[in-house]
Formats: sequence, structure tokens, C-alpha cells
Amino acid sequence: MTITATNTKHNFSAGPAILPKEVFTEAAQACVDFNGTGLSLLEMSHRGADFVAVMDEALALVREILELPDNYHVLFVGGGASSQFYNIPMNLLNDADMAAYVNTGTWASNAIKEAKAFGQIEVVASSESDQFRHVPKGYPVPADAKYLHLTSNNTIYGTQLFDWPETKVPLVCDMSSDIFSRPVPIERFGMIYAGAQKNMGPAGVTLVIVRDDMLGHVKRHIPTMLDYRTHIKKGSMYNTPPVFPIYVSMLTMRWVRDQGGLDAMEARNFAKAQALYAEIDRNPLFKGTTAVDDRSWMNATFVLEDDTLNEAFLTDCKAAGIVGLKGHRSVGGFRASMYNALDLASVQALVDVMQIFEKKHG
Ligand SMILES: *Cc1c(COP(=O)(O)O)cnc(C)c1O
Repeated sequence: MTITATNTKHNFSAGPAILPKEVFTEAAQACVDFNGTGLSLLEMSHRGADFVAVMDEALALVREILELPDNYHVLFVGGGASSQFYNIPMNLLNDADMAAYVNTGTWASNAIKEAKAFGQIEVVASSESDQFRHVPKGYPVPADAKYLHLTSNNTIYGTQLFDWPETKVPLVCDMSSDIFSRPVPIERFGMIYAGAQKNMGPAGVTLVIVRDDMLGHVKRHIPTMLDYRTHIKKGSMYNTPPVFPIYVSMLTMRWVRDQGGLDAMEARNFAKAQALYAEIDRNPLFKGTTAVDDRSWMNATFVLEDDTLNEAFLTDCKAAGIVGLKGHRSVGGFRASMYNALDLASVQALVDVMQIFEKKHG
């Protein structure tokens, strides 16, 4: 049996989010018969050769796409990015150690809250008083900080980091919503982590990248499953890994590589962001909600000047096959998420609706 994904919507959902159509097709096939084995991927041992090959390729693709040096480990773990909020300080900080955090939104705030249980946490910059509409810049980072925690893309507010702070302190970064969307200066990072469900695969697995020298410094007892060294030693196979999310993430990474890697993703994402923000700025009915310099290429947030038109706009979007545009429940308005897999044609479809809406209501 051959299954072909026929997804026809323009999916602007913030997460779980769009993946390449060919990934859905292959993933569906693997659920029925994986590689002609006569078995579904979902019913085979994770220790068998077929799945071991998947894990090996997934780990290798992360290395290849990000051009990881040998002193970085790649892990696939459960618990979502939110579990990393406590797992990172548990593994990296003694009680008396200090780490610096930048508060750029809800996810950063959650990371700060959790870290406080494991070390001395200093919030060195925050845009909270500006409702997180910009990304703080130019703040000093104490030299004795074990790491500086950043959120590279603020999914809810629609801001993104375009300049990595000048500091010798290793960066620890939540890249959940912009992993694989652009090149990053990898040697600046002590750790990178990302929940799969924004730009990589289905919910249920989290990518963790950790530099060797970050580990082995804490004295507290770390439960086996929460100790990164356990998963490093066992190649993310200490226990049963989330086989399906890892497989689909592998397919997405193949797609990223075949498209031309991170440079190609950056060009693709830049073109989409340019097209949408140009319309938001041109169209008198709409207004962007964040500082222009910090506008995210992944999640564009905007509002209608007249919010009594909100429902009418969403109705027109729906009629054009555009879904997932409603802003996060905490901020309202609209949010167009334009992850790697979204085509420029989908952004063009949204721009068309905005222009027709202007003619009707302008
Ligand atoms: C979605 C998101 C999270 C939460 O991820 P979970 O996997 O649901 O825990 C954390 N950080 C950022 C930046 C996100 O976009």
C-alpha cells in the first residue's frame, strides 16, 4: 500500500506545526510497513537493526546540519523542552554556582523559575516591562556565570535574536522554535535544546546538544534518567526512546539537508518573513506588534487596527484554506508561524487575503 499526504491547508500553526509533505507521506508509510520489513515502525524493537539505523542517521544528521565539532554530544530525550528548564541547571550548576538568564518571554520566564531550584540565578536583562515586544541588547554578563541562558526565538511574542551577545560565558539556548532555520555560531554554545514539534518533528522528543566540558562539575545526586551522561553513554538508548518522533525528525532533517542545509533554510525563511512583514507595514488595516529590528522570521505577530474586524478576517482566512493564525491566548491578535516547511506560496496566500480584506474594509 502506498499512502500519499494530501495536506491542502496553508498551515500557520505555532506548534505542533507544519512538516514537509513528503515527510508525512514517508512517516505514514512507515506506520504501515517500515522499509518493506512487513512490520510497522511502531511495533519493532528499538534494539533491532532497523531502528538502530534510524537513530544513527538521526544523530548523524544533527551533526551534519549543524556542523557540530566532536566535543559536542547529541541526545534525544523525552519530556519536552519544558523539562530541560530544570534538567539543565540540575546537570550544570551546584547550589552555589551562578548562571545568567535573559527574560524574553513566557518560555524564558519558565526556565528562570525552574533554574532557581538548582543554583544562583541572575536575570541580567528582561523585556518584561515592554510586554516582551523587544529583545534586550548590550547588557553585561558576569564573567563568573557558568552559562548564559537565552531563548533564540520567542514563539509567543514573535521576537528573535539576531545578534548573539558578546561574552566569553558559554551560551545555553532554547532553540525550540527556530532550530535548523538558519546557521548559528556553534562554538559559542555550551548547550542547545529544542522540543521537536515546531521545526523538526512530532511532539514527544527533545533534541539536546551539549558540549563535553559543560558536564561532570556538579556534586548533587542526579537521577539516572535526568543525567545527560546516561544518555550520552547509551546513545539515547538507555531506555526505550520515542521511536516515532525520532524517525519523523530524521525524515525532516533529510529534507533540510537535501534542500541545501541551513543556508538554504535561512534564505527561504528570510523571503517569507520579508513578504509578510512588507504587507503588514504596507496595509493600513494591520500593525506589527514587536520592535522592527527583533521581528521573528518564524512567528510574525500582528493585529488589526480595528479589532472588531478580527473574526471577519479569520473567516476570510479560513475560506482561503489558511489555518492556525489566531494569536497565543496570552497575547491575542494574530500570529503567522512560518517554520521551515511552510512554502512562500502559503505566505503569498495570506498576503492576498490581507489585500482583499483591505479593499473590503479599508
Ligand atoms: C513550545 C516552546 C517550548 C515548550 O516546549 P514543550 O516541548 O511543549 O515543553 C519551550 N520553549 C520555546 C521557545 C517554545 O517555543
